Amino acid sequence: MALISSESLERVKQAVDIVEVISAHTDLRRQGARWVGLCPFHEERTPSFSVDAGEKLYHCFGCGVGGDTIKFVEEKEGLGFAEAVELLADRYGVELEREKEDPRAEAKRQQRRRLGELLDRTASFYAAYLWESEEASKAREYLSERGLGEEVLKAFAVGYAPSAWDKVLLRGQRAGFKVEEMRGVGLVQKGRGGGEYDRFRSRIMFPIRDRRGRTLGYGGRAMRSDQGAKYVNTAETDFFHKSHMLYGIDLAKAAIARERRAVVVEGYTDVLALHQAGIEEAVGVMGTAITDEQVAALSGMVDEVILALDADSAGQEAMLRAQRVAAGRKMRLRVAAMPAGEDPAEMMASEGGAERFRALLDGAVELTAFQVGLVLARTDVSSPAERDRALAEVAPIMAGLGESASRDDLVRRVAERLDLEPAMVMGRVVASSPTSGGPELGLSPSGGRSDASLAFAAGRTELTSRERRERALLAMCIALPDEGKTYLAKLTDEHLTRLGSRAAAWIRENPQDPASNLPREDAELSGLVAELIITAHDEPASPEAMELNFLLLEQRRIEAEIAAAGEAEDAQRRAALSMERAALVQRIAHAERVGG
Ligand SMILES: [Zn+2]
Repeated sequence: MALISSESLERVKQAVDIVEVISAHTDLRRQGARWVGLCPFHEERTPSFSVDAGEKLYHCFGCGVGGDTIKFVEEKEGLGFAEAVELLADRYGVELEREKEDPRAEAKRQQRRRLGELLDRTASFYAAYLWESEEASKAREYLSERGLGEEVLKAFAVGYAPSAWDKVLLRGQRAGFKVEEMRGVGLVQKGRGGGEYDRFRSRIMFPIRDRRGRTLGYGGRAMRSDQGAKYVNTAETDFFHKSHMLYGIDLAKAAIARERRAVVVEGYTDVLALHQAGIEEAVGVMGTAITDEQVAALSGMVDEVILALDADSAGQEAMLRAQRVAAGRKMRLRVAAMPAGEDPAEMMASEGGAERFRALLDGAVELTAFQVGLVLARTDVSSPAERDRALAEVAPIMAGLGESASRDDLVRRVAERLDLEPAMVMGRVVASSPTSGGPELGLSPSGGRSDASLAFAAGRTELTSRERRERALLAMCIALPDEGKTYLAKLTDEHLTRLGSRAAAWIRENPQDPASNLPREDAELSGLVAELIITAHDEPASPEAMELNFLLLEQRRIEAEIAAAGEAEDAQRRAALSMERAALVQRIAHAERVGG
């Protein structure tokens, strides 16, 4: 499809009224230069959501979403960029013009199409090989013993990779594909002698397809005991990122949209077995935990995600991160506790398995409550020391929920079980929030902040003091561009977080009108840029406050270097750095007097 011309895109951006568009989703009221309201992307009681009507940007200081009007429509209506622009153009009466595509982008798209064809062709080859070849008879037997019928295996295009070293390689070459292309999509790999050979051999092949059914990679299960890894996946390529993919999403998406929920399991055969039993909203994460990206991929389609994963052993931190992403997107994450040692595929193959599985889904509990429950279950409540330990363990888990009815509920349950005052438990939960501890030094020149921004600070859950300092400084670099130039030149990767570094680079490259050119392909970065611009408009900025924030980041950098020198047992360097730090501390004290 031809691209929308940049002129008409500009006209759409000019014509839209961001306050009007967003007001359809949440009530906004004016507060100083900005409009504020409850965030339409996450659940909250005090408003963290902010709209800058002049710059036509929004940002939530609670969950971090942000962008321009087009981005808002994309997220809220579940549309692609072009569709969102079309909707807004229609609503605000702008005629869209199309322009011829950039030839380089077109060439890249052609190449992607070609590689996609290679992956699809190979999947078909594997699938035919499973059903037709003699050497795949063991694989057919194995699949049928697992109770998987031909119909579901064919729907998922399950296949078999021959034992030969070069079948796929030779077929690809005959069809006109270059060896580098086959290596680029992970079908062949280089041997020690420099020659190329098939990556997948003697394995049952599960093509991993995107939402639209295009094969992007494969999972291969070993059929011989001497094969090393039981499962081998396509290595990460330009367009295959396993942690972003949901196995079976192409066949599950209709049921997911209908049921407004997804059932998440671990393995390929789990997904197949559930689909075969009519639980078609099942997808696989191909690991023991669900990733942020996988949660994001489901957002908009579902109200809840039920994890039938090994939640006991899954990385607790990964789960809590996924929980925060889900909470930010108004999704519930629940856990269906599988009986020990039984996976969904095995359950489905057993007598009455489908009914048992459905009952588990009905009884699924909130992920956070599940994890808190695990801790409480192994706590000996008769011992005060054990109760202390349990409280210390569950407080940060509950803090991850943010302000919500489910957090309050859980606090009451924990208090009851540990025989403590609910207020005391709540105190520990609040204290475990990463933002507790009062306003940070160096955030604004006066040290005093408006009530509104204090409310925003309270809504933030994940910022470290370093992040807050770097954000304050970067926002001031936008507010005071002349001084900003000096600081942007001085800031290095050692001062900044990775995201902060990218934002600094982006401001350096777009010094003129940062709002008109958001890095839209990068949601994380454009969210932060929107936040910085809104903060720049709203919060006071001064050269003194910039200096103070910079010095505090400098102090952190030196401290990291001192630690590194200590680890390297370089006493001389350590001493020199300590002197530097002492001088810096004096400058900070001075800057605080001037700034405060
Ligand atoms: Zn939010």
